[in-house]
Amino acid sequence: MPEAVFERALLPEGWREKVRIAWEAGRIAAVEPDFGGPAETRIAGTLVPGTGNLHSHAFQRGFAGLTERRGQASDHFWTWREAMYRFAGAMNPQRLKAIAALAQVEMLESGFTAVAEFHYVHHQPDGRPYDDPAAMAVAVAEAAAETGIGLTLLPVFYAHGGFSDRPAGEGQKRFLCDPDLFARIVEGAKAATGALASGRTGIAPHSLRAANVAELRLLTAAHGDGPVHIHIAEQTAEVADCEAATGRRPVDYLFDSLDVDSRWCLIHATHVTAGEVARMAASGAVVGLCPVTEADLGDGLFPAVDYTTLGGRWGVGSDSNVLISLPQELRLLEQGQRLRDRARNRLAKPPLSTGRTLFEAAAAGGAQALGLPLGVLATGASADFVVLDDDHPALVGRSGDGLLDAWIFAAAGNPVRDVFVAGRQVVKDGVHVARAAAEAAFAAVARELAA
Ligand code: ZN
Repeated sequence: MPEAVFERALLPEGWREKVRIAWEAGRIAAVEPDFGGPAETRIAGTLVPGTGNLHSHAFQRGFAGLTERRGQASDHFWTWREAMYRFAGAMNPQRLKAIAALAQVEMLESGFTAVAEFHYVHHQPDGRPYDDPAAMAVAVAEAAAETGIGLTLLPVFYAHGGFSDRPAGEGQKRFLCDPDLFARIVEGAKAATGALASGRTGIAPHSLRAANVAELRLLTAAHGDGPVHIHIAEQTAEVADCEAATGRRPVDYLFDSLDVDSRWCLIHATHVTAGEVARMAASGAVVGLCPVTEADLGDGLFPAVDYTTLGGRWGVGSDSNVLISLPQELRLLEQGQRLRDRARNRLAKPPLSTGRTLFEAAAAGGAQALGLPLGVLATGASADFVVLDDDHPALVGRSGDGLLDAWIFAAAGNPVRDVFVAGRQVVKDGVHVARAAAEAAFAAVARELAA
């Protein structure tokens, strides 16, 4: 059985020294702090658990930075979405695999050990399914097999262009499914994730715009007990459309219509009333916050102080992948609340520091949202390890929670030194073991698409 003694580790009970961890078949078999015996492998630095990235559209990594010019007097989410649809039109399984692999390499190097891929570009450019209707989903899983990242694959159900079953537009034809075709894609995704060391399949009804309540009921009943993710209340225009069509705001409408429980991950939930905040917090669902993307798209600020005061669960996602960084998602989440409130340490739960509070909440919420046993260093959990280099200039001289505070709020450069997923080392000395190959494949696609 492989084992190692880590100099320092963040266990469920707190910081401990000289922690022996043994693992078998990808899962932690024993955790023993204050280990005084001999050890073949000693790992210097600070061990923290792997965090799940709960929301990614991998292909969007390919056009990061290409939408930073103002095309109209008022540029906003909906004009960005038109540019994103044009880029989605150029995807095929081979290009998607290359772009997803580089995105996953960057996720692993930043401290994420698994990702929930909210996957909606299913069909050929003319809208016809591929011979294997799950070909695009399988491409994401093939990337994960190469990079070693844990993967919760969430095939997206997309049937309408807007509330009241408005017909879908030209830019959406690669996304559209009826429930039968969708079931075939889910089957293909299950076969692909079943072959991974750390894999799971769930479902993602895209949004209340794209899936109606009857479809939501049918899908959640038909697809067992796996994770259910949905975009909700990201944009004020979407809230207004929902109110016009249903008489209720999106979160209230969802909770009035379905039994929303711990299977659910509510992505964004930016524009919510105090009543909706209380309903979400009491439900056991995870809110999926994507601060870097939400800032990039000008979405707005989630009421995180109110929500966490009520005990609401949350995690973070890199969403559009415009810039992939676990610490930056956590930093921006806290800093958004500080800027709004003109006060500091808004999300801390003393005696824990702000960085520790953010890290542990995101690790727990990410694991729940992905439906994978990560985010904690305990027997039975996935052997997902992130080792910080505490000789790095950002961390040197820090200890305990101060290490997490320095990593999240004050690190220029990346102090993540080693990363293991399901017991397999994928990042060594700060670099993913397959980075060179992933960069070469990505560069070929990026040049092809720019030509
Ligand atoms: Zn999204």
